[in-house]
Amino acid sequence: MYYGFDVGGTKIEFGAFNEKLERVATERVPTPVDDYQVLLETLAGLVAKYDAELGTEGKVGLGLPGMEDADDGTVLTVNIGCAKGKPLRRDLEAKIGREVKLENDANCFALSEAWDDELQDAPSVMGLILGTGFGGGLIYEGKVFSGRNNVAGELGHMRLPIDAWFHLGDKAPLLDCGCGKKGCLDNYLSGRGFELLYANYYGESKKAIDIIKAREAGDADAIEFVDMFMELLAICFANIFTANDPHVVTLGGGLSNFELIYEEMPKRVPRYLMSVAKCPKIVKAKHGDSGGVRGAAFLNIK
Ligand SMILES: [Zn+2]
Repeated sequence: MYYGFDVGGTKIEFGAFNEKLERVATERVPTPVDDYQVLLETLAGLVAKYDAELGTEGKVGLGLPGMEDADDGTVLTVNIGCAKGKPLRRDLEAKIGREVKLENDANCFALSEAWDDELQDAPSVMGLILGTGFGGGLIYEGKVFSGRNNVAGELGHMRLPIDAWFHLGDKAPLLDCGCGKKGCLDNYLSGRGFELLYANYYGESKKAIDIIKAREAGDADAIEFVDMFMELLAICFANIFTANDPHVVTLGGGLSNFELIYEEMPKRVPRYLMSVAKCPKIVKAKHGDSGGVRGAAFLNIK
């Protein structure tokens, strides 16, 4: 049995999955963001409860918005205040007497998609999240690739490629990022970036969904903007694909529901790839909101 915890800033979702990777139990509880001991007890309590209920000793995986310091095992996160700087994985291991795996939630999202029936045979799967921010995860042979410092797949903090900067033109905004740098993809390719860029070029604040609807209704500014954004996405995707050459790319997050992306990328991306490379298959994520808990559970498959 595989247990997954998707630990968010407001709630913890628990899921138990059997050997066929079918979900057999689900529970949601509020995240005790202010009290580390209560957080540990909450996680350990759920493990004990479902061990007893399912008559097993489940393997435990944790997904959270943040990452583990590769050298000392402490957690770097802003959303779960009490876990910040704490060796969460080790402390939980001591409490429940078994190994625990921990990954950031974008990697869990990618892993969940990679274990979907249709993608299981792909040697590599890249998950890209076009949500409030832009992030990703790299899965090779069904396993998360975290790198030396657990930052592999932190694509949102790659900076704009030079051809993207030229594409954005004279009015290109050099946006500040939460990580302290400027020009990170996080601020351009996300849903938030989509809105920020529109406001930058057209002087009007509009929600992403309204820009998309305006385009469908034939609004000239929205048509021009979406065309510009698709090209920006293609340039940035192509640069990312050149570094990793994934077999399949799966998109999640709010903006991934914009169907035009799946029509436009195969046409636009190849121009920015090496001549021998083809655009990988790009598909929409299938597991949506349950990706975090599925991926956390599946950390223990291999
Ligand atoms: Zn950044």
